[in-house]
Amino acid sequence: MTVASILSTKGREVVSERGATLLSDVCKTLTQHKIGAIVITDDDGHIQGIISERDVVKAIGVSGASALMQPVSSVMTRSVETCTDKDSINVVMAKMTAGRFRHVPVVADGKVAGLISIGDVVKHKIAQVEMEAEQMRSYITMA
Ligand code: AMP
Repeated sequence: MTVASILSTKGREVVSERGATLLSDVCKTLTQHKIGAIVITDDDGHIQGIISERDVVKAIGVSGASALMQPVSSVMTRSVETCTDKDSINVVMAKMTAGRFRHVPVVADGKVAGLISIGDVVKHKIAQVEMEAEQMRSYITMA
């Protein structure tokens, strides 16, 4: 199963913000969209960083409530692991496990073109296991 197959059902919409956005506004966006991370891009859609709820908690833990008035560029992760449409879900899972993060943006032509979350990976893994179990059941019944 590939990244492209997940995106064909999930869609390619990615919630993104600019680096100058205040952390307080990032919190609003995370809440409004019920998501755990936002990709930070420039005006052309090139990835500049990623901010997740973990970064927000860490910033508040370090600086207190005043952290919310900082621009997201000061707390986001700049070195972002990405994937492409052609990558398999196992490759994306390996990136998440090795990097200990739960979001991997999809890049096409240097621009953000989707996002795979750990929820997407788990959903597709469960569907795959159920399909294999069903195949096994019908094989046994036929025998
Ligand atoms: P998450 O588990 O996605 O909430 O993220 C945990 C930490 O990893 C946070 O510091 C994020 O900024 C960072 N992070 C999330 N996704 C990525 C990614 N694809 N590449 C690099 N760092 C990431």
